[in-house]
Amino acid sequence: MITVKNALERVLESVSPLGIERLDILSAQGKILGEDICSQRSIPPKDNSAMDGYALRAEDTRGASRENPVVLRVIEDIPAGYLARKSVGRGEASRIMTGAFLPEGSDSILRVEDTEKDGDRVKIFVEVSKGQDVRFCGEDVKEGEKVLTKGTLIRPAEIGMLASLGRSIVSVRQSPLVAVLSTGDELVDIDGDVSQGKIVSSNSYSLAAQIAECGASVLQVGIAKDTREDLREKFEACMRADIVISSGGVSVGDYDFVKDVISSLGAIDFWRVAMRPGRPLAFGKLGSKFLFGLPGNPVSAMVSFEQFVRPAILKMAGHRNIFRGTIRAAMQQTIKKNTGLTYFLRGIINEEDGRYTVRTTGEQGSGILKSMVLANCLIILPEEISVANEGDEVLVQVLDPGFGMRPDPGF
Ligand code: AMP
Ligand code: MG
Repeated sequence: MITVKNALERVLESVSPLGIERLDILSAQGKILGEDICSQRSIPPKDNSAMDGYALRAEDTRGASRENPVVLRVIEDIPAGYLARKSVGRGEASRIMTGAFLPEGSDSILRVEDTEKDGDRVKIFVEVSKGQDVRFCGEDVKEGEKVLTKGTLIRPAEIGMLASLGRSIVSVRQSPLVAVLSTGDELVDIDGDVSQGKIVSSNSYSLAAQIAECGASVLQVGIAKDTREDLREKFEACMRADIVISSGGVSVGDYDFVKDVISSLGAIDFWRVAMRPGRPLAFGKLGSKFLFGLPGNPVSAMVSFEQFVRPAILKMAGHRNIFRGTIRAAMQQTIKKNTGLTYFLRGIINEEDGRYTVRTTGEQGSGILKSMVLANCLIILPEEISVANEGDEVLVQVLDPGFGMRPDPGF
């Protein structure tokens, strides 16, 4: 039996980032950029107006006030998206809309609120400083500038930036295809008949959802019977994937053949990790594919996925930050435990005035899926301790992507 830390190290040493693929930018969301992006253009491409108003020469407005307006001659209208045809001379101005390029000769914008139109003239009520309300060429992005770096997570802002650079296709790190195989004679699919001692293979669904949450794709292989033949056949059907996840059949029961079958098809690196839940867990390789033989109990399967499979998937997809955020929180109850095992308790973390507290979700049996449903975090109690007392600070792994969200705006 190896420690959680050791097991995690072995998993992460084995896997490495996948290759690069080219995707349209909207499909690239949540993936890792596989190339540096240098801009071939300046943004904005030219000096342009930040206001609806008048393009003029700042020096022409000297001394202007409400009482003593300066009067300029309006020589043209420049809507956004159209180029000026006339150059602005001394004593002249062009009506201009937000985003339109400044006409030749002008150096500043005066917002329309500080003017009054009078036929083909405009009265200017304030002095303008040179460059006022001008968005300068290249102030966002300069031509030739490296705007995004290889390894960056692609979020909506990066997608907007890529679009403004005219990049509809972009290189990204591939995410793994992950096969999910459930094992057990007692399992039926979601709409199967559960009247004769069968249960729904909920792991097929919770694991698929966890994979999707990592941004990876799922290959659903279904349910294998507890026979070596069926397991072998179904494992072979997983070989198209980059990672194979099985659940169940990896313990010491009379029908737990998963370990044997993996050993005959590939190689087991480790089996059994000093943790609760999730002790029976096999990691190894099937040819060039990585295999996680997760325990069958629904909570054990999900918790072991969180600790080992999720970081592996994220590393393969090129992420730098492959671990969930952690927070220190004060225990609201006392928990006794066995030394020598790392505990992952399903918990509810709360924040009040910047202080975090945490309590368990109640019954912690590894078959109690409700303990996951109620949880927004896992409380991690390290191997060496035999008790966590009420008030003790413990490390909490935040699971809920909505953690910190609130029903009111908070401002
Ligand atoms: P095993 O590790 O195969 O002995 O399974 C341990 C427990 O988890 C048993 O009670 C199984 O019925 C249950 N189990 C195994 N696989 C699944 C699954 N895919 N979905 C839900 N429960 C499962
Ligand atoms: Mg089983």
